[in-house]
Amino acid sequence: MSPRTVENLNRIIDKYLKRNNIFYEDAPWEIKESTLGGFGVFAKRNIEVGELVFLDTPVIIGPRCVDGLQEICVNCFNVKNLTKCENNCGLSLCSDLCQNSFDHQRECKLIRFMSNKKPVEDGSLKLLKCLTPLRSLLLSEEDKEIVRNLKYHRGKNHGHEIDTLSDELSFEIKEDEKHFLKIVCSVLDANAFEVITGCEENQSDLRGLYPLGSLANHRCFPNTNHVFDERQRMVVRAAVFIPKGSEIFHSYSRIIWGTAIRLFHLLNTKHFICKCERCLDPTEFHTYMSAIYCTKCKGNVVPINPLNSGSKWECDTCKQLVPGKDVGRIMSLLGSVLRGFDNKDFKIMYKFLNNKLSSMVPDNNEITVELKYKIIWILGHEEGFTWKVAKRSQPKHYSRKPKKLFLSFCPQPSHHYVSAYASGPDSGSAYDSGFFPSNARFGMMGYRSSAYAPAVDHCHTPGLLNPGAVASPTPCLLPANPLAHQLPGFFGTASS
Ligand SMILES: [Zn+2]
Ligand SMILES: [Zn+2]
Ligand SMILES: [Zn+2]
Ligand SMILES: [Zn+2]
Repeated sequence: MSPRTVENLNRIIDKYLKRNNIFYEDAPWEIKESTLGGFGVFAKRNIEVGELVFLDTPVIIGPRCVDGLQEICVNCFNVKNLTKCENNCGLSLCSDLCQNSFDHQRECKLIRFMSNKKPVEDGSLKLLKCLTPLRSLLLSEEDKEIVRNLKYHRGKNHGHEIDTLSDELSFEIKEDEKHFLKIVCSVLDANAFEVITGCEENQSDLRGLYPLGSLANHRCFPNTNHVFDERQRMVVRAAVFIPKGSEIFHSYSRIIWGTAIRLFHLLNTKHFICKCERCLDPTEFHTYMSAIYCTKCKGNVVPINPLNSGSKWECDTCKQLVPGKDVGRIMSLLGSVLRGFDNKDFKIMYKFLNNKLSSMVPDNNEITVELKYKIIWILGHEEGFTWKVAKRSQPKHYSRKPKKLFLSFCPQPSHHYVSAYASGPDSGSAYDSGFFPSNARFGMMGYRSSAYAPAVDHCHTPGLLNPGAVASPTPCLLPANPLAHQLPGFFGTASS
């Protein structure tokens, strides 16, 4: 393996993009050493809001390694019309086309060879869980080099897929293959992105390894957002203006989570403690996403040291101290109420939001935001809560007629439409949400795969604001929400 230097990384990534036909001569990024340690992706010139930063394609993609995995077509990731492979590899496929595809034929052969042609019957879900790393054995030497060049954590807890393959499925794995698989599993654990493909009932949850995407570092207020297109390529755009020379960031965690949960999640999945400006700020840029109300004066109670889970919390008005575990108890209680709601409980949720939650936590508290998302989801999906969008109001680059489209809330009356969701009958689905209290210095965008991403992309979200930037309302190009009048207060002053 060539040494991991800036020159070598730039060279092998360029070559990778070239062989996948997604190399752009005037691309606005470059790989450099990061002040965070290791390498990062940097802006080679100024990048405007919404501009494409880079396209990346997965070097390996496949099912996630999680419990409760569903059978999917291992070739096209469809979840419908599945039948077992006619060559008895144990995997499922959805059509003759997928059965006979070049990729499946190759991996089918490999699996049958490694399992000594014993059909994998009741272990097929186990095999599915291990399929993603297994696919790395079929990579070209050049692609294997890419994988070896990605950073990973050398812990014992990575690579249990190999034990499953050899111990539970009796696969015969050579020593050198074992060694490489171990690296692959660790690289996947450290770098893979969750990729959602398909829409509605035909959605599947995958993990993909994006070489360039994984070189971009994390920050809890990223300056980019990404979507996955129908070929599972990662499309990364600037969420804010990115000045020349600055580092390009993703978020590996959910932006609408408060600091404690983000830190926990990042430590558990990515093995690092984030110390970004947002994590260090007890108010999270004045959004108060983790705060609860003070029982004495209704001020905001925030952690004194957000990086320390045992820290005391303090009211920013009357300075009353609250033990961290008391705040934790309230948050987990509210969290369990939230998880207990069923989609049918729409009215109860709405009541809980307005009567209970609003008296306990600030409007931007993560539980409130999560509950609003839940309500928004129901508005777009449940019978009786969806509506058809008038044709004239569709952004003009909708290529297909959307089945549903809905807009969501913003805690501030000045920007009611922060989130849009669109889904089409035969396309992917997309959602995009933003969260911008007028005094906040970050917002969020989340995307799910899709054909409609471009439409959603342009419709709103100013994206994540750079620290120090002034939030300015962005004109909303989407129609007013016809349900808004039924939900007073929910959509702010929904008058437009
Ligand atoms: Zn298929
Ligand atoms: Zn097969
Ligand atoms: Zn952070
Ligand atoms: Zn107080």
